Amino acid sequence: MSIVNVMEVFVEQKMEEILPTVECCNCDKCLDDIRAMALNKLPPRYVSTDKGKLFSKLNSLQEQQNGVDINVAVLSAVEFVSEHPRHSDEDKKDAVKEEEKEEFEKSKQKGKSSK
Ligand SMILES: [Zn+2]
Repeated sequence: MSIVNVMEVFVEQKMEEILPTVECCNCDKCLDDIRAMALNKLPPRYVSTDKGKLFSKLNSLQEQQNGVDINVAVLSAVEFVSEHPRHSDEDKKDAVKEEEKEEFEKSKQKGKSSK
């Protein structure tokens, strides 16, 4: 038996739904900011549950919530974070480095397989 704030799950689901449709940085820091900001706008919904029962509870709670408040909270959090990103340039540099590394690895593999 454990206690879960199902609002976290709803916000996560809503983010997955909204983020592909908007222009917003997807780095971990911005995603965490969006998550935190949306959750601060919403009342927590704690349920005591064991794993098997969680999802039926989630569905009935989500119907009650109507999805509307969550939608508004996540959308405004996304808007705010994309206008005021808190990631540093350092984070961005690291992200670029990782991408370059991947490209490098890929080109190395291509070179090998073509021989
Ligand atoms: Zn970011």
